Amino acid sequence: MEIMYKSTRGSKNFMTSSQAIIKGLSEDGGLYIPDTIPKIDKSFKELKDYNYKELCYYILNKYLTDFNEKELKECINNAYDNKFDSEEEVVLKGFNDSYFLELYHGPTLAFKDMALSILPYLLKTSLKKNNIEKEVVILTATSGDTGKAALEGFAEVENTKIIVFYPQDGVSDIQKRQMITQKGDNTFVIGIDGNFDDAQRGVKEIFNDKELEKILEENNYILSSANSINIGRLLPQVVYYFYAYLKLLKNNEIEENEKINVSVPTGNFGNILAAYFAREMGLPINKFICASNENNVLYNYMNTGIYDIKRDFKITISPSMDILVSSNLERLNYYLCEEDSNQIKKIMGELSANGKYKLEEGMKSKLSDFYGGYAKDQDTIDSISYLYKEYGYLIDTHTAVAYFVNEKYKKESGDKTKTIIASTASPFKFTRSVAHAIGIEGTDDFNLVNEVSLKTGLKVQQGIKGLENREVLHKKSIKKNDLKKAICQILKV
Ligand SMILES: *Cc1c(COP(=O)(O)O)cnc(C)c1O
Repeated sequence: MEIMYKSTRGSKNFMTSSQAIIKGLSEDGGLYIPDTIPKIDKSFKELKDYNYKELCYYILNKYLTDFNEKELKECINNAYDNKFDSEEEVVLKGFNDSYFLELYHGPTLAFKDMALSILPYLLKTSLKKNNIEKEVVILTATSGDTGKAALEGFAEVENTKIIVFYPQDGVSDIQKRQMITQKGDNTFVIGIDGNFDDAQRGVKEIFNDKELEKILEENNYILSSANSINIGRLLPQVVYYFYAYLKLLKNNEIEENEKINVSVPTGNFGNILAAYFAREMGLPINKFICASNENNVLYNYMNTGIYDIKRDFKITISPSMDILVSSNLERLNYYLCEEDSNQIKKIMGELSANGKYKLEEGMKSKLSDFYGGYAKDQDTIDSISYLYKEYGYLIDTHTAVAYFVNEKYKKESGDKTKTIIASTASPFKFTRSVAHAIGIEGTDDFNLVNEVSLKTGLKVQQGIKGLENREVLHKKSIKKNDLKKAICQILKV
C-alpha cells in the first residue's frame, strides 16, 4: 500500500515519503504525517527474532513506500553499524518491572543518534529519487543533543551544508564542546543569546520566508530540517519501541500481547510521539507517561487540556528538555481531533497570537491515554542517587525525570503494568549533576567524566574521550533575531 504524506494544517499537497523528507516542514506551517498509519501484519512471535536492522526494515518499509528494498536496506546498513558501541544498537536493563531502554550507545551519546544516523542516508536517497541536484542546507535548532547528532550524521555528506543553532548558555559543557569541536567543511555551529524556543522559532520562520526561499533557489540551494519536525527523524524512532517489546517477550518477561507502559522524558514531544505511532501500528501500549522537568507546560496540558507557554523559561539540570513549545504535539493533536485540520489551524493560530489554547471537551477526553508529570531538579538528583545506591545502576538527568514521574504514577494509580523507560542520554553527557548525585564533587565536567568512570566502573564512551583536548573550530555567536543574516553570510547570498 502506497503511503502519502500530508500536512496537519490541511493543504491539499500530498507528497511521497521522499518528498516529505526533503521538505521537512510543510509550506502551510504544518507538519507532515502519513495519510494512514500502517499496521503490523506479523505476530510478535514471528517478529521476536528479528535483529535491529531487520526490524527497522520491516517498520520503515511500511512508511517509506517510495523507497525500494535495495535503497532502504542500504540506508539502514549504513546507519546502524559499528558507530554503536554496544553489541546491539539498543540495550534493555530491568529492575522491578521497570525496564530502561538505553538509546545512547551511538556516536554522540544521546538517543538522537537512533534517528540522525539514518536521516542523512534517507535524505541523500530521497534527493536522488527526485532528481534534485541542488545543495541541501540542513537547518537545526538544538537544545544540545540534536545538534551534535545531526552534525555527526551530516559532516562531509556531499551536497549538504548543516547549520546548527544552540542556546549558548543553555547546554551542558560536554554538549557544547561536542558541537564546537565538530570537524567537516560543511558544518556550521552558532550560539544564540536565547533559549531553544527562540532557536526553533527562528528556524521555523526561515522555512516560511518566501523571499529567502526564492533567493536560495536562485543560488541552487534548498532547505531541509534535521529536527523532529522532519518525518524522517520521527519514523526511525518507532522501531526501538517494538524492539524493546520483542526483547521483553524473548526474555519471557511478558506474555505475547501483554500490555506495557512507556515513560518518556519529553521536550519537543518527538520521542513519545514515536511511541504513539508504535501503538497505532499495533504495539500494545497501555499508558504513555509524559515526563517533564520544571518547564512543565506538557504536565499542565495533560491534566487540564490547556496549553499555556506564558511562563518563565527555566534552566534545569535536564537541559535537553528545557522547552516550552513542543512542536510534535501538533501531530498528536491532529489525531486527537480526528484529523480535523481546521481545528489544528485554529489552535495553532491561538498559540501564536495568545501564547495558549484550550482543547474542546471531546479532544481533551482523548488525552486519557497519557499521564503527565514532572520532576524538580532535586527529584531528579534523588532518583539518580537512589538507583545507584539500590542497584548500582547509573542514569542521566533526563532519564531520571522519566523514572521519577513513572514512580509517582505507579504510586498514584496502583498500576502494575510493566514499563519501558526511555533512557535518552549517557550519564557521562551531563556529568556534573550525575557526579554530584553519587557523591563526587567538582566543577570541571571533563575531570568529572573520569571520576565517574573510576567510581562506577563504567567505560567512558568513545564519543567524548579526550573531548577537552579537541580544537575549538566554531566560535560564532549571534543575537537570537539574526538567524537569517547568519545563514545568508554562510551561504554567501
Ligand atoms: C531531545 C532529548 C529529550 C527530549 O526528546 P523529545 O523527542 O524532544 O521529546 C530527552 N532527553 C534527551 C537526553 C534528549 O536529548
